[in-house]
Amino acid sequence: MIEWQLPRYGRGPYDEVPPVLERVLRSPSSDEEAWRELWHLLATEGLTVCAASFAALPYLRDIVRAGESAAVDRALELAGAIVAGVHQDHGADELVREVAPVIAELRRMVALRIDGGGLSPASAMALFRADLAFAGASGWSLAEYDFEDGFYTVSCPHCDLPVTLAIGDYGQYSAHRDWGEGDVRRPLHPSPADELSSLGKRMYDTARALGLAEMAEGLTYLFGRAECPDCASTFIVADQYAADNEPHHSSDGPVPAGGW
Ligand SMILES: [Zn+2]
Repeated sequence: MIEWQLPRYGRGPYDEVPPVLERVLRSPSSDEEAWRELWHLLATEGLTVCAASFAALPYLRDIVRAGESAAVDRALELAGAIVAGVHQDHGADELVREVAPVIAELRRMVALRIDGGGLSPASAMALFRADLAFAGASGWSLAEYDFEDGFYTVSCPHCDLPVTLAIGDYGQYSAHRDWGEGDVRRPLHPSPADELSSLGKRMYDTARALGLAEMAEGLTYLFGRAECPDCASTFIVADQYAADNEPHHSSDGPVPAGGW
């Protein structure tokens, strides 16, 4: 039986977790039902985390260490979803600090796994998000990356106008709906890959390594320049998206060691 050597704090499931985690640890490659239950307990709806989520990270790390291929991706994906929730009001800030070395190890492990290749598109996307979460970029880990028919709405940093950005099959442009003139559109200017910001470059390189070509191209627009259709000032789309979607810090915000 797993011993939770932690004081009870925070909201969320606690006693229910060890038996489910034990089932996962017994057959991490085959017990789909146990994995589903563990997801439900530790990253409810793929999003909501609790103190037990962070307490489980060392066990998920151990599954990755053991290296059974069918289990490695699952463990990294769940660990990524947990760490992406670091800014939630989970009441486990101290625990998050304690598991920082585990998160750092997971970060190295996901990089190795990404280099290993052979991932399904769904797993590739999940590991793309996990990599960002472990690197301390939880906002980007949870961001939308729909470069087929997705739209982003950001506010112009100069005039505050809501600007809609299309990056995908509909084209690449910034737009503002003007009731008199209809859609006023301006083309987006993608960043050349070698001129991307360090974060953009990291995401671009990771997407390429994962075989996500469409994603990599979309990122050159996301980290490229847009023009406000109204006031004509230009801005980096990603900067405005980050400013508009900054994660709310639960307290003094224990962010896992990041930086690149
Ligand atoms: Zn403007």
